[in-house]
Amino acid sequence: MTFPNDMMLARRIREINEVILTETLMCPKCAAPLRSIERNGMTIERCMERGGIFLDRGELERLIQAEGEFNVRALQDDRFRDERW
Ligand SMILES: [Zn+2]
Repeated sequence: MTFPNDMMLARRIREINEVILTETLMCPKCAAPLRSIERNGMTIERCMERGGIFLDRGELERLIQAEGEFNVRALQDDRFRDERW
C-alpha cells in the first residue's frame, strides 16, 4: 500500500541519490565517497573508507608508460646496476 507521502519521499530520495551520484563518485566496493587526488598531472579517485584507488580511462596506460620509462633509465644508470649486483 502506497500513500502519497511515501511517493513524495521516494521521489525525494531519488533526487538526492541523483545529486550524490553526479557530484560525488561512489566506491564500487564499499559505496563510500571517492575523493579526487592530483598526482603527476593525473587525477585519481581514492576511496575515503578503505583507500582503494580508481583510475580513469587512459590513466593506467600512462602509469605503465611512466614505469617503463623509469625502468629504461634504471638500466642505463650505473648506480642502479651496482645496487642490483
Ligand atoms: Zn571503498
